[in-house]
Amino acid sequence: MESSDDIESRLSRLGSRGLIDTTQFVRIIIQSLYSLGFNRAASSLESESGVRLDSAQHDRLLFDVMSGRWESCVSTINSIPGIDTSSLINASYLIWKEHFFELIGSGCFLLAIEVLWKQISPLGVDSCRVHRLAQYLVCYEAMGQTGSVGSTVQRRISLFLDLVEVLPPYIRVPSGRLEKLVETAVLKQRSSCQYHNSPKEITLFEDHKCWPEQIPSTCSQVLLEHKNEVWFVQFSHNGRYLASSSRDCTAIIWTILDNK
Ligand SMILES: [Zn+2]
Repeated sequence: MESSDDIESRLSRLGSRGLIDTTQFVRIIIQSLYSLGFNRAASSLESESGVRLDSAQHDRLLFDVMSGRWESCVSTINSIPGIDTSSLINASYLIWKEHFFELIGSGCFLLAIEVLWKQISPLGVDSCRVHRLAQYLVCYEAMGQTGSVGSTVQRRISLFLDLVEVLPPYIRVPSGRLEKLVETAVLKQRSSCQYHNSPKEITLFEDHKCWPEQIPSTCSQVLLEHKNEVWFVQFSHNGRYLASSSRDCTAIIWTILDNK
């Protein structure tokens, strides 16, 4: 008899081999519906399934970035399940760098220095990047300039988009994910089709397969110039020539003539 844990585990996986996580599957369908413009259907699916397109961390991170709550941003990133060290460092660098530039823009040079040495430097990123930030700070301070480059809102939106790029796809489903998976499956089936010779469009409703009967088998030309068996023939890419090689140790390049 199945235990409740077994039942829950079975329902959380799809496919004959249980390889597909149901929540992930629903998320990519929701994303596909949104991208196709079926917003109400996507929203209904979110309500009915209880599965959200974006993770809780995605929404929290967006709020924190747009509010300039940098410590909270880093905490949110640290709470992402299974995030690797490299992603964590890259995301933290982007967050503290934005904070650094915003402080410079506000003329808070001492606080900017503090962020540089207490938050950015310990991340262990490429030292050239840290030095460039320090040089930028010195130049900006020497010129006595204030005011950030671009609007704060634009900069923070840009930061959020950059963060999504370096964080795991768990945070936000990559765009066109369902289409990419289907396309990969179609291409895989076509490339492994042993008798592939079908000019017709591939349908999604059944697995692709060409049959030996679809291979042209009408004799249209006999290569009489060879003195023994022809072992290999190959058309040129433009279809105007045919190369043949034979057991008689000769190769012949044929010019293809129409209706011959
Ligand atoms: Zn085929």
